[in-house]
Amino acid sequence: MKIYKKCKKCGNEFHTEEEFIAKTKFVGIQSFAPYNLFSLELRDCSCNTTLARRLPILNQEPVLIPSFA
Ligand SMILES: [Zn+2]
Repeated sequence: MKIYKKCKKCGNEFHTEEEFIAKTKFVGIQSFAPYNLFSLELRDCSCNTTLARRLPILNQEPVLIPSFA
């Protein structure tokens, strides 16, 4: 089975994004906007290792894009 993410420390495997969210604890969001069109959501594994999930731009606060019109 395909693995969505695996904790390097304890070897915990998350097969889907939903499982990853359900079994980890939200820590915070690291935003790179407007330089990159994604942010990283940081979540703690049960062993206290922080794992990152890439968030698509759609899940973020609106980012102002300069208008060239
Ligand atoms: Zn872990």
